[in-house]
Amino acid sequence: MDELLKLAKVRFVGMDKTNEYDRELLEYAKKLSLIKPMFLAELCNVVETIARFNPSLALSISAHHLALYCLKDCNDFCAFALTEKSGSNVKAIETKAEEADKGYIIRGSKNFVTNGEFAEVFVITARHEGKVNVFAVDKGGIKAERVDLGCFRGSGIAKIYIDGIGRELGDLKLAMSALNVGRVVFSSLALGIAKRCFELALNRAKRLGLINNQGLRWRFVDLKSDIEVVSSYINSVVSSFSEKDGVRPAICKLKACKIAKACADFAVEVFGAKGLIKHSITEILYRYAKALDIGEGTNEIMKEIISRSF
Ligand SMILES: Cc1cc2nc3c(=O)[nH]c(=O)nc-3n(C[C@H](O)[C@H](O)[C@H](O)COP(=O)(O)OP(=O)(O)OC[C@H]3O[C@@H](n4cnc5c(N)ncnc54)[C@H](O)[C@@H]3O)c2cc1C
Repeated sequence: MDELLKLAKVRFVGMDKTNEYDRELLEYAKKLSLIKPMFLAELCNVVETIARFNPSLALSISAHHLALYCLKDCNDFCAFALTEKSGSNVKAIETKAEEADKGYIIRGSKNFVTNGEFAEVFVITARHEGKVNVFAVDKGGIKAERVDLGCFRGSGIAKIYIDGIGRELGDLKLAMSALNVGRVVFSSLALGIAKRCFELALNRAKRLGLINNQGLRWRFVDLKSDIEVVSSYINSVVSSFSEKDGVRPAICKLKACKIAKACADFAVEVFGAKGLIKHSITEILYRYAKALDIGEGTNEIMKEIISRSF
């Protein structure tokens, strides 16, 4: 794992510059069995650790496991494709599934699919007889078009066009349960970014003596306390996890993304203008931290889920 982390760290800025996924890194992660099913606690730990060095690789692993939850097992990278032009309104999706001799014919398109460029198997939501169900489609039935997003540029994020045979995996509840797992893992990714930004800022503040200013020191204290609280909350959700409970994963995601953004913002501040140099690590993490508000369901959707429990 240490070797993977070293390589992942070195390659990260390059991935951001080129907007290309790194096949060698993915193969390395596969060799270390990071794409095999894992206990949630282990997966969160892996994703958080990798996110500190290479958030793009961490997102790819996280998205793979979201799909794997529906597939149960798969020996290659997978993608979970839900988003369409209806966005957060998953009930309005237009991708269609029609019963055929050997399964279902799935036709439609999905946007912003992590791992879309390189996945071998795609978990896809599609409408069949009025209901949204979950299907698996092999890459032969997919055409992927890279999306030029300003974040997670090494995660193979793509728009995909589907025209292939699918096998049914379950109903919409399966996708929702997978998202509950995914949001906890995504929170660990956010925590990894928060910790990296905090460390970058702290190292610089110590090196330049900025830490001697009480005002700045107390800002570090506030962020450190929030990181610890979010970390403990994620651990508590993981230790008593129920895939049917959407509320606690939504709280996790909301809070973890908030602290990641606060730490990324602070890191840029501590680095001054240098913090904004294009493709510097602080500038990259600042862009990536914002995306956390949107991926795996937006903040507003998290709030809607939480408010339904009142
Ligand atoms: C880095 C990244 C990776 C991603 N990976 C994947 C992936 O692997 N698979 C996949 O399927 N998708 C993926 N997505 C897409 C992501 O899930 C969607 O972007 C997200 O669900 C929001 O959909 P949208 O972008 O269409 O925004 P919209 O749904 O159009 O939302 C626009 C705004 O309206 C608000 N809004 C919408 N509905 C409501 C409501 N009911 N109440 C209050 N406010 C509302 C939203 O919060 C948001 O602020 C990824 C996105 C990112 C950024």
